[in-house]
Amino acid sequence: MDFELPGYDDPTRTEVRQWCADHPRPSGRQLAEAGLVAPHWPSPWGRDADAIQQLVIDEEMRRAGVRRPENMIGIGWAGPTLVHAGTQEQKDRYLLPLLAGEEIWCQLFSEPEAGSDLAALGTRAERDGDEWVVNGSKIWTSHALASQFGILIARTNPDAPKHQGISYFICPMDAPGIEIRPIREMTGVALFNEVFFTDVRLPADALVGEEHRGWALAKVTLGNERVSLSGGGALWGQGPDAFELLDLVRAHGGVVDAELRQRLAQLHIEAEILRLIRLRTVSAAVRGEAPGPEASIRKLLADEHGQIIMGLAKDLAGTAAMLTDVGPMGAEVSLWHYGYMFARALTIGGGTTQVQRNILAERVLGLPHDVDVEEGRTWAEARRGATSA
Ligand SMILES: Cc1cc2nc3c(=O)[nH]c(=O)nc-3n(C[C@H](O)[C@H](O)[C@H](O)COP(=O)(O)OP(=O)(O)OC[C@H]3O[C@@H](n4cnc5c(N)ncnc54)[C@H](O)[C@@H]3O)c2cc1C
Repeated sequence: MDFELPGYDDPTRTEVRQWCADHPRPSGRQLAEAGLVAPHWPSPWGRDADAIQQLVIDEEMRRAGVRRPENMIGIGWAGPTLVHAGTQEQKDRYLLPLLAGEEIWCQLFSEPEAGSDLAALGTRAERDGDEWVVNGSKIWTSHALASQFGILIARTNPDAPKHQGISYFICPMDAPGIEIRPIREMTGVALFNEVFFTDVRLPADALVGEEHRGWALAKVTLGNERVSLSGGGALWGQGPDAFELLDLVRAHGGVVDAELRQRLAQLHIEAEILRLIRLRTVSAAVRGEAPGPEASIRKLLADEHGQIIMGLAKDLAGTAAMLTDVGPMGAEVSLWHYGYMFARALTIGGGTTQVQRNILAERVLGLPHDVDVEEGRTWAEARRGATSA
C-alpha cells in the first residue's frame, strides 16, 4: 500500500463525521441527497469524490454504523450507465430514487442462448411510431420480482453484425406483456427469474444512448460489474470471509486434524494474497490510474477462493455438515450452509471463470484472441479468413 489516508482534521472527514452525528439513523433518501451513497458519481448525485475521499467517507460511515441502501444492480450497474449515457430527463427521473433504494433495479441481459456470448441475444425491440415493441425472453434475472425497473438490451437491427444492432433500454417491470417466473435454486431461494416479453410497449424515451449502439453501453455496465463483484467477502463481498472462518476456528481452540490444518494454512495464504491484490488496485485508483488486469485476476481468484472457504467450513463441521442447520464449529448456521450452496454460482455470474481466463490470456499474456469480439469470429475462423457474424 503506497498511500496514507488523511488524518482526523481532514475537511472531508470532519464534514462526513458531523453529517453522521446530525443524522444518526439516516433514510436512504437523506443519504442519497447528501451524495453519500455513491460519492464518486458526479454532483448532485455524488460528490465527484476521488479515491482517497471515497476511502475516507467509507471509513467515517463505517465508524458511525451508517449503512447504505441496498440496490446492488441499480447502484452498481444501472446507475453508472445512466450517469454515463442517460439524458438529463432520465438522470433526473431515475437516479435519486435508485440511490435511495426506493426503486430497485434488475439486469435483463442473459438469454437461454446468450450468456458468455451475450451479443448473440435474440430478444427483439421494433420501432412502432413513438414506441418500441419488445418480444423475447431473458433468464437468470436476479431480483426481477422485487424490481421496479430493469436495464434491458435487445436487438433493434437484426441485419447488422451482431454487436452493432443492439440497443439499451429502461424497462418498467410492471409493463403489460411482461411475465416473470421465479427459478428455485439449490440454495432453496428463488433469486433468479425467467422474464418473458410479449408485445411489451416501451416509450421512445426508454432508449438509453443511441439506437443500435447499446453494446458499447452494455460493456460500460459489465465493466462496473467486474469491479464491484470483486469485493471483500467470500460471496461477492456479502458473505463471511476467510478471516472470519479462521477466527471461528481459533475461538474453538483450533483443529488437530493435520489435513484440515494444512487447508486452513493454505486458505490464510490465499486470503492474504487477495487482500494485497485489493490494496494494489486501491493504490492504482489513488494514483488516478485506470483499473488494470488486477480486477479480472482478483475476480478469478476470489470466486474460487469463495468456494474453498465454504467447502472447508462444511468439512470443519464434520458429519454434522450433512444437516442444513449446523455451521462450522456449530456456529451461525444458515449463512454458512447457504454460502456453501450459493458458492457454485460464484464462478459463473458476472463472467465465468473460463471467460476470465480468456481475458487474462489475451490482455495480460498477449495470447491470440479466443473470439474476435468486434468481428464475431473465432480465432480459428479468423486464421482461415472466414466470418461467422
Ligand atoms: C448468481 C448469478 C446471478 C446472475 N444474475 C444475472 C442477472 O441479474 N441478469 C442477467 O442478465 N444475467 C445474470 N446471470 C447470468 C450470467 O451472466 C450468466 O450465467 C453467465 O454470463 C454465463 O452464461 P451462461 O450461463 O449462458 O453459460 P454459457 O455462456 O453457456 O457457458 C457454459 C460453459 O461454457 C464455458 N464457455 C463459454 N464460452 C466460453 C469461451 N469462449 N471459452 C471458454 N469457455 C467458455 C463457460 O465458462 C461455462 O462453463 C447471473 C448468473 C449467476 C450465477
